[in-house]
Amino acid sequence: MTIGTLFIIAAPSGAGKTTLVNRLLANDAQVRRSISYTTRAPRPGEVNGGDYHFVDLPQFMAMRSRGEFVESAEVHGNYYGTSRAWLEAQMTSGMDMLLEIDWQGAQQIQREFTEAVGIFILPPSMDELKRRLQQRATDSPEVIARRLAAARDEMRHVTEFDFAIINRDLDVALGELTAAVRASRLRVKRQLARHPDVFRFFEQD
Ligand code: 5GP
Repeated sequence: MTIGTLFIIAAPSGAGKTTLVNRLLANDAQVRRSISYTTRAPRPGEVNGGDYHFVDLPQFMAMRSRGEFVESAEVHGNYYGTSRAWLEAQMTSGMDMLLEIDWQGAQQIQREFTEAVGIFILPPSMDELKRRLQQRATDSPEVIARRLAAARDEMRHVTEFDFAIINRDLDVALGELTAAVRASRLRVKRQLARHPDVFRFFEQD
């Protein structure tokens, strides 16, 4: 029986997901970010085992064929996957887990974990998204163009999620993300899993 709540956070590149998630994690010790495996090369400043577990393609495929991923997908030409063992261990120990994954991974998770909560972060407009992507120095123009096209595809899946947060103002969006996380934890099934003792009183006499 897993005690923790499973959160999926998806967004197109440039919606501000990473900043929002980092702020949420800094404020809330009960929620932990799942560290994915990826075949993508590390960006400057990224830490192996911190941002991602960086692996090569043969390593990734070997893990996938052994069934070590609870979900996996190819995104922008690289592979990404979430470790099943780590996720389940964390949730059994009572941690809420936050998966920053794309819509393909979200669909796989929702099939298996029907109580998972899907949160989608939207940019306020396509123009604003373009502006934010161009400001990022880390990606080449070709990568930016590819990500903009991919953003449209990603956003078409917003209706498959439970919550939609429009990131126009970071503080407002953070407040909304925090509210969605807190409300989701209060669903009866989650409360029952975390506080069985509280629910037992009406079963007696
Ligand atoms: P980036 O390479 O910019 O860190 O991430 C690119 C995309 O890959 C993002 O949309 C992100 O949500 C997605 N992603 C990151 N980790 C995973 C994962 O473990 N599984 C899936 N399905 N997508 C992931």
